[in-house]
Amino acid sequence: MKNRLLKIAASILAGALLLTAMVGCTPEETTVTEKVTTTEKSTETIATTQTETITETDDTLNIAVSILPVADFVANVGGEHVEVTVMVPPGYSPHTYEPTPNQMVRISEADAYVKVGSGVEFEESWMSDLIAQNQDMTIIDCSPGVDLLGSDPHIWNSPVNAMQMVENIYQGLIDIDPANQSDYQANRDSYLADLQALDDYAHQTLDGFSNRNFIIYHPAFGYFAAEYDLTQIPIEHEGKEPTPQVIQDCIDKSVEYDLNYVFVAPQFATSYAETIAQEIDGQVLYVDPLPATYISNMRSVVASIALELE
Ligand SMILES: [Zn+2]
Repeated sequence: MKNRLLKIAASILAGALLLTAMVGCTPEETTVTEKVTTTEKSTETIATTQTETITETDDTLNIAVSILPVADFVANVGGEHVEVTVMVPPGYSPHTYEPTPNQMVRISEADAYVKVGSGVEFEESWMSDLIAQNQDMTIIDCSPGVDLLGSDPHIWNSPVNAMQMVENIYQGLIDIDPANQSDYQANRDSYLADLQALDDYAHQTLDGFSNRNFIIYHPAFGYFAAEYDLTQIPIEHEGKEPTPQVIQDCIDKSVEYDLNYVFVAPQFATSYAETIAQEIDGQVLYVDPLPATYISNMRSVVASIALELE
């Protein structure tokens, strides 16, 4: 953003120099005076307008992200200093989403891109195109320090991983905007405290039960399960719809573990979950793996899973 300011200042200066040169070359003195008067006025107007525009955009970093929970992390750490654009809109899946031409244009205005970095298909497929659109954009990776579980990209659904991601976002923001470090630090500390409270709540709510299994259509809570010593039983495998055998296995496990719920993400609603729920005389419950407000949503995920463990 400072570069942009310098560039604009430089172009105003270049314009002024060009004017001086033009004035110097003009042969008739009267015309020269007139020209100087009119052009000086218009230069002033342009300069004022541009300064106003700079004040608006210069205060704020434009940050693009892939998914809603990361947008929430960036907004919490960045506070008033950032404006966040999310690529995969509410209700869409980061496993299949393709950016619109409009979104590609917005990428060209971003100061930084915060990627999940764990192998989310949207990033695997589109990151190089996004970078090609804006080579000056700083890439901030959320994943360093998070232990990946095989090829499962859903790292954000563990509050402990979320804390590491927030730390990585903080480091990225102070690298590109060191002037506001104290604000970012205060925001980070406050949000980390809230995430710690969420982790404490999850332990208090989930630790006591002997049943540790839950059944879910799209397996987005593997890191959550690992963190709280639970077993996620997926209906969907590697993005594929279940075979009759998989459905039968899920029904058998539901009986074995006395399960009463089938968890479903709103982005992956499916009749298979209904089928299994009917077979086990149970109920479909929604848990959102891509929330716009992370902490309140994760609290409700914890409460919903606890219903199954009871
Ligand atoms: Zn997913």
